[in-house]
Amino acid sequence: MTRWIAPGRINLIGEHTDYNDGFVLPFALEVGCTATLSPATEGWSVTSAQAPGEVVVQPSGLAGREQVPDWAAYVLGALWLLHDDGVEVPPMRIEVDSDVPTGAGLSSSAALVCSVVCALDDHLGLGLGPDGLLALSRRVENDAVGAPTGGMDQLASLRGEAGHVLFCDMRDLTAQSVPFAPADSGLAVLVVDTRAPHRHADGEYAARRTGCEEAARRLGVPALRDVAEADLDDALSRLDDEELERYVRHVVTEDARVLAAVEVLRGGRVEDLGPLLTASHASMRDDFRITVPEVDTAVEALLASGALGARMTGGGFGGCVIGLVPEAALDAAGDGVRRAFADAGFGDPALFTAAPAAGARALVSPDIRGN
Ligand code: ADP
Ligand code: MG
Repeated sequence: MTRWIAPGRINLIGEHTDYNDGFVLPFALEVGCTATLSPATEGWSVTSAQAPGEVVVQPSGLAGREQVPDWAAYVLGALWLLHDDGVEVPPMRIEVDSDVPTGAGLSSSAALVCSVVCALDDHLGLGLGPDGLLALSRRVENDAVGAPTGGMDQLASLRGEAGHVLFCDMRDLTAQSVPFAPADSGLAVLVVDTRAPHRHADGEYAARRTGCEEAARRLGVPALRDVAEADLDDALSRLDDEELERYVRHVVTEDARVLAAVEVLRGGRVEDLGPLLTASHASMRDDFRITVPEVDTAVEALLASGALGARMTGGGFGGCVIGLVPEAALDAAGDGVRRAFADAGFGDPALFTAAPAAGARALVSPDIRGN
């Protein structure tokens, strides 16, 4: 038996910069998905503690791929892709169990996929290494499931480190750990899951992505990451398109805010993150226009009740908000958000604090067993 755990993640700052070849700053969460692999006599069988039923497929019966329930493709995707690559994948049973809330923007999908990929690599002795694990995890979401994720979620889940954020360059998919221990400064990251229904998220995401690509094409750069902040005004004056100008302003200033956040953290000035978070939110709300009333309300309530900064995290149109909150103000901030939601007639939000935790790791491994 082989068992791995891989965490969900929160992006501290850097939104919609990933597909513009830019910078992001996620950290791995304490909540995660465990994947347990055991040998079987026939077929590949998968179960999830969070989904009904058992799904059994035969390695040879590849025609049935599109008939498995959506959730099972996240698990079977790695087996299918390895099989396509010519790897002999023996009969096995895979059980997954996760405490990452799904669809909240905390990347339950990457937690699930990375736990399975790491367990498979270990179980079969594939020796994929860091780049291979990342590549296979991305392919599962992009090719087997068909979700256009850019790699940040998998990087954070695989390589997160306790007490650190992961400074990722999404052009070459390299990542460096940067210390982030808010508790040392008497601060905490308060997460508000607004539970707002995602409205038109897929179509709007695609529209932003296409708009950014079109803007880069018109500006004659490979990606918006290549527009320096110092050249922003010049770039905007060349676009002559109000919508694209807003997109470019968001992406260019957001990349600059990620770099500023890294400087602030390397300098040990965690409290100086606050204004960067709030500026990021304003940019997503006013320029990129990906927020909804629930997330704007949560940000305003956090700022009004003692947060040093707050922003929506994740792709937008719902999802979670994070606030950098003095520990002494946590109760007041939570009460402030709940009151603001009640006054606005929104449903109850879920609130919890999050601290950077370790990335994917073995719980039971063939190596640990010594065979
Ligand atoms: P997020 O990654 O932000 O949580 P996604 O839409 O990318 O949202 O992924 C959520 C999907 O991942 C779920 O709808 C489900 O198909 C799958 N999933 C995640 N965790 C589990 C789990 N424990 N069991 C079964 N499916 C899961
Ligand atoms: Mg996801």
